[in-house]
Amino acid sequence: MFRKFAGLVFAASLWAGASIAAPQVAVQLSKSSDSHKAEASYINIDVTNTGSVTVYVFPTELPVVGDAPVLLSNVFEVKNADGQVATYRGAYAKRIVSPDDFIKLAPGAKLHYEVDVGANYNVTSGEGTVGYRRLSFYDRPQDSSSDMKPLGLATSNSIKVWFNPALIDGSRATHASVSPSTVTGCGANAGAVTAAYSAAKQLATNAIQYIGAHTTPIAGDPDGNTVFTPSARSIYWLGQSEPVQSNDGVDGRPGHYSYVRIIDTYFGTANGMPKFTCGCPTGTSPSVAAVAEANFTVVGADYSNAEIKLCPKFFTLPLSGTDSQAGTIIHEMTHFAISYTWSPSVTYVEEGTGDYLDGSTYSSAHQVALNNPTEAVRNANNYQYFFENIPAKN
Ligand SMILES: [Zn+2]
Repeated sequence: MFRKFAGLVFAASLWAGASIAAPQVAVQLSKSSDSHKAEASYINIDVTNTGSVTVYVFPTELPVVGDAPVLLSNVFEVKNADGQVATYRGAYAKRIVSPDDFIKLAPGAKLHYEVDVGANYNVTSGEGTVGYRRLSFYDRPQDSSSDMKPLGLATSNSIKVWFNPALIDGSRATHASVSPSTVTGCGANAGAVTAAYSAAKQLATNAIQYIGAHTTPIAGDPDGNTVFTPSARSIYWLGQSEPVQSNDGVDGRPGHYSYVRIIDTYFGTANGMPKFTCGCPTGTSPSVAAVAEANFTVVGADYSNAEIKLCPKFFTLPLSGTDSQAGTIIHEMTHFAISYTWSPSVTYVEEGTGDYLDGSTYSSAHQVALNNPTEAVRNANNYQYFFENIPAKN
């Protein structure tokens, strides 16, 4: 008993010692001091290096606003007054991890942001809660071959915010329907977009062949349900190794393959093509390849209201291979929420994937599949690498 007690004291003092020297970053959320902005659900975010060593952070996990008021990544955890999670309807910027994009935070340095939360999440009237998802900090800038192992995670607070949808920036209230099957503003790059789209379709064809090859009918099932048995390829990138039945819901969702299936359905049935626009939101860095605005739901695999913005970086990527143009198109398509009928008469709505910084490179995405399959199937890059399938696995 005494020894146990002594051990506890020793551990506690080690912890206290470590916390003084350890690098630390704090994310402080606060209400806007401007009363009009506070009414419209603007908040302030301060990111401060409160430790004694220089650290580095990456824009994917920062509240960066592109074309105001649209956020470029889903960094907040927002709950409505009824406690339900308010789904994200901002944009997702596909960034190729580049050392140039890391932001250096010397001890005491602070980054300040202002964001209209209500314009980026499906909020309802009443007092909701806003917290911060995750901010990782690193000892040095990472590159595209990095395993993305952070020094630590920032601490953050959460705050109560009054949401009044009537006062929220109207430009986000409805998404203007975009015309289908178009490539606009691409000039001499229009041909490259068409080629990338064809290459994406090839990836999808390959993926559905893979799924089909590992899917078998359930003997004697009157509804004709099938079972998919994951093998090397899907386990490597999506992590899940248990068989998935076509009528098998996971938390009310049909397993981990809904995106693979929905994208295959899309390409297979020649439903509405997403609108491709060349041009990037203001303020995006040169490492942003593409941006998807995730503020509406793709119904029945019809992508004709989905807009994918292609930035200059996109045209420097290889047509196919790892981190390709084709894979980037697939990546963007998984960011949209989807609504589909899975088993007879059951319609599911599933939120789009996110961009997790710890799964943002080829090697780190595989680590996420190994260590955190739940995150892997929510991370757009894991789907991208599954579709790109390099080197080929079966
Ligand atoms: Zn993305």
